[in-house]
Amino acid sequence: MSVSYPFPPLQSARRHWLNRWWPSTRLRTDPLSDLLIDGRYAPASIANWKLIPSMARNLLAGRVVRPLQFTAGRRLTVLIPFRDRQAHLERLLPALTATLAQQQIRYRILVVEQHGQQPFNRGKLLNVGMKLGADASDYFCFHDVDAIPVVANYHCPSQPLRLAHRVIRGQQTSVHHDYYFSGAISLRKDQAVAANGFSNEYWGWGKEDDDFFFRLLLADCLCFRDMQGVFEDLPNPAHQQCRKRFGLAPAHVRANRRRRSRLLRGVSDPAADGLSTVRFDLIARHQQDSYEHLIVQI
Ligand code: UDP
Ligand code: MN
Repeated sequence: MSVSYPFPPLQSARRHWLNRWWPSTRLRTDPLSDLLIDGRYAPASIANWKLIPSMARNLLAGRVVRPLQFTAGRRLTVLIPFRDRQAHLERLLPALTATLAQQQIRYRILVVEQHGQQPFNRGKLLNVGMKLGADASDYFCFHDVDAIPVVANYHCPSQPLRLAHRVIRGQQTSVHHDYYFSGAISLRKDQAVAANGFSNEYWGWGKEDDDFFFRLLLADCLCFRDMQGVFEDLPNPAHQQCRKRFGLAPAHVRANRRRRSRLLRGVSDPAADGLSTVRFDLIARHQQDSYEHLIVQI
């Protein structure tokens, strides 16, 4: 099946009204999500971002939807951005390697550790991992260290794929909102290159994943999610709790939001900042039993 935009709007009048006047409510309005949830893989929504509807329509105009497919036999590099989460890594590795082996994936795992005390920069670490892992990879999986696979498909997808849909936290299971594009993301190397990887400028917590989603979209990649994917989300260590539920967000989070908004408005250029411009020093490289551990100064 191939479907192209524009669709007649499917959302209810109430949703439409709210999104028009209050876009930050992030109600789901992407007609793709409503139309194509008939199989296991559905497009990840974008229209419910803090986008005004006209921007969303422009981004989607002319887009042709192809069903997601998988290719066997490709070489996977799993990239894990890391600092000070040893307990998480020890939980993740056995589950991850067991799943990859069971699916007969040709893989290797790179743990990319940020050296020093600067704020954490997940996007830049993933760029470094892609640079160092590129030659031996056909596709990548960007994998948070605290995302433990329960039901996950690590095969090579034809379009970028978010592996998680349901998330288990302690006793609770919740369904990820459409607008989330992180946790564990698989995509082909050429797609990562076309998007120019991640921005290198998101320090501290948040929004580099939104930015990356839009880079992919600008590079003409429609992103999908696995509706059967289940992951366990481990709680962050107490000293690494970055999200604040109430009150004003910290300054760096607000700066990251502003940076993301500049990309959405089309006033920053992915070509000027990303995989092609990343600078770093490789401080150490250790081969462990099931993974390679890189320590980098970024
Ligand atoms: N991370 C890390 N050390 C840190 C912060 C982040 O290793 O101090 C890595 C880790 O892989 C983690 C990912 O970045 O899974 C996402 O960060 P975090 O878990 O803080 O995001 P949240 O769960 O709050 O969305
Ligand atoms: Mn976390």
